[in-house]
Formats: sequence, C-alpha cells, structure tokens
Amino acid sequence: MISINGYMFTLPQLPYAFNALEPYIDEATMKLHHGKHHQAYIDNLNVALNGQDKLLELSIEEIVANLAKVPENIRTKVKNHGGGHANHTLFWQIMGPPSGTEPEGAFMSAINDTFGSFMSMQEAVTQKAMGRFGSGWAWIVVSRGKLEVMDTLNQDNPLMEHKIPLLGVDVWEHAYYLKYQNRRVEYLKAWWNVVNWSAVDLRFQEALRSLSEG
Ligand code: MN
Repeated sequence: MISINGYMFTLPQLPYAFNALEPYIDEATMKLHHGKHHQAYIDNLNVALNGQDKLLELSIEEIVANLAKVPENIRTKVKNHGGGHANHTLFWQIMGPPSGTEPEGAFMSAINDTFGSFMSMQEAVTQKAMGRFGSGWAWIVVSRGKLEVMDTLNQDNPLMEHKIPLLGVDVWEHAYYLKYQNRRVEYLKAWWNVVNWSAVDLRFQEALRSLSEG
C-alpha cells in the first residue's frame, strides 16, 4: 500500500477543536466525520494510486481537475475517493467557530451582484442542497469569472466541471444524522452559523487571481 516513492495522501488536521462548531455541529459528528469518513476516502485513494508515481506528484485538486490523466481502470475509484478527500479538505477549511460575521468587500459586492443579497445567496445554496436527492454537495463556485450555485452527486467536485469551489456543504447523511437524523433542512439552517467567511473570501481572491493569470 506504500507507494514506491513514498508519497501518500494524509489526513489534514482540523484547524479547530472537534467541539468548536457546537452547538450547530456536534463533537461526535465531527470526530466520526473527520477521523473515520475522511480517513477512509484517503486510505482508499492511496490504495487506488499505489504505484502511480506521476499522479502522486500532483495535489488532490490537480488530480480531480484532470481525471482524464488517470488510468481508466482506477479512474472511478480516484474520482470517488479523491473527490471525497478534496471535498472534505475544503469543508474543514471553510468552517470555524460561530462568529456571526458576514462576507465583506469585493466578495460581498460579487454576492450582491449575482444573488441580490447575502440572504438570497444562502437561500439559493440551501435550495440546491435540499434538491440534491441522495448523497452529494451544494456549492458556491466561480465559473467564467462569475459566482454560481451548483450541486454535485456523491463526492464529485466542481473542479471536475472546470469550476472553482469557494464554499461547499456536505449533505451526505453522515454529515448530520447523529444530531439532526433525517432533518436536512435543520442541519443546513444551523450550518450557516459555522461558515468561516474570511476563509471563503480568501478562496474567492485566489480564484480571481488564478483566472487573471490564465
Ligand atoms: Mn462527508
């Protein structure tokens, strides 16, 4: 299971304590979600990529954005488990202790231009998340220089459609079932309280920079 050149993907540490998102996201869910679910995606990804030394030189974002470079016999595994790794890595980064803050500056202006208001943007994401039948994610992405809302199936990532994810909310039941059972809408309402808008803003600025650099 160890690649010849020694590169393997590893579980990133949470940038806050497991109980830091309480009461909105409970400690037990965070421990399970990070330590078991995310770890399992990484373990399965490493098994699939064993011996693929060229691919193991890429970041997980580069891999999911370039699935055509992945040999066909492991492509579905890399899509599912690599997508799982990329999605959860983003998810931990764009959450944080409840702070009551909102987006600011150029990012808030872009939200207002696209959606009319901050609240309308949240409603649009929530609607996508509620409309996703079964497991998947809802996102705010940058596509052709503009903000967009979209959803994806399973562990698909917007990079697979050449869109840059800024914010993603996990609507697999494992993300909320312990605390909210089947009440996805309650989970989503609570989830907005733990979005780290400065982390999302940084991703927005990086996305614009990467587009201007072509
Ligand atoms: Mn998950």
